[in-house]
Amino acid sequence: MNDALQKSPPEEVTATSEVAAGAILTIDLGAIRENYRRLKARLGDVACAGVLKADGYGLGAGQVGAALLREGCDIFFVALLGEGVALRRSLGADPAIFVLNGIPPGAEPDAVAANLCVVINSHEQLAAWRAAARRAGRKLPAAVQVDSGMSRLGMAPRDVDRIAADPQAFDGIDIRYVMSHLACADEPEHPANEKQRLAFEQLRKMLPAAPASLTNSSGIFLGPSFHYDLARPGAALYGINPTPPKSNPMLPVVRLQAKVAQTRSVEKGAGVGYGHTYHAQGPLRLATISFGYADGWQRRAASAAWFEGVRLPFVGRVSMDSIILDISALPGGRLREGDLVELLGPSQSVDDAAGHAGTIGYEILTSLGPRFHRRYVGG
Ligand SMILES: *Cc1c(COP(=O)(O)O)cnc(C)c1O
Repeated sequence: MNDALQKSPPEEVTATSEVAAGAILTIDLGAIRENYRRLKARLGDVACAGVLKADGYGLGAGQVGAALLREGCDIFFVALLGEGVALRRSLGADPAIFVLNGIPPGAEPDAVAANLCVVINSHEQLAAWRAAARRAGRKLPAAVQVDSGMSRLGMAPRDVDRIAADPQAFDGIDIRYVMSHLACADEPEHPANEKQRLAFEQLRKMLPAAPASLTNSSGIFLGPSFHYDLARPGAALYGINPTPPKSNPMLPVVRLQAKVAQTRSVEKGAGVGYGHTYHAQGPLRLATISFGYADGWQRRAASAAWFEGVRLPFVGRVSMDSIILDISALPGGRLREGDLVELLGPSQSVDDAAGHAGTIGYEILTSLGPRFHRRYVGG
């Protein structure tokens, strides 16, 4: 038989294959696990969940969830029903998965089928989950969220009053947690933190006794009086600084590198990029990278890429699929087509990039687009 015919076909090139993609996103699951351990160490005996909403802050809810499971984390939070159903499929039957935004009216059977824990934010959602329990013929798990002062999600004090007066309010519901969310946890001196904590104390007393949960990442650093029975960090797990402006106690998690598509030299006066918003002040060497606003780097974010520790500023406008860099600081010929320059990593943290873009690290991570080749390491 002819050996050549037996060869397996070459692997199919997809948009996100390493050879085809314009940029490579490396996600260090080992660093996420270490960050989880660091938060656990601060929390002592208090349980620590993992927040995986928005596809694990853009880094892959399934992969991050599996890594956290290996650290013993078995409580997860997502924002939406669909995220919960997908996470249940990837993590299996065991972990508790809470849906923060509640369940849209009529979709309760889908939440029951995936054995999700609903976060109940209103009187109406409570009635719907009670009815779902009646239909299912068993108790259904839930967290009751109260609004302690953020005015976003959760039952207002008036709703809590009304429920407290109804002995049947929680029939068929297994209340796993009473929870609330802090609006200003990243500002330790902000008076709203203690005010919310006291309001939370008041509201919990009116509800059936259950474990309590109040803090996100930054709240963990407000001290033990905020910890209660369960912390719900997201950002800090992903390497975002939970204690700005102090130094970051977490490990960095992501590295984003873009490929050089072309290099060129231009003369003084050359217009660069759309709208010619930039003109060369003298002879320049430029590199165009395969990475642009369609990949989540905002058009208005003035920034730079880095190569071997050398800063390469953006020149001209960010395009959809490309950005032009001034590479004159590098020796001629040093940077070539196919080389990788760094957008996020040791030279520029997620928080640094956010500072240049006038936003927060959360938005940088959750904006990262679908075209990257994603490489998971350290799982
Ligand atoms: C997003 C979110 C968290 C996690 O917040 P981080 O600041 O990312 O740690 C916790 N609880 C609720 C209700 C949230 O919406």
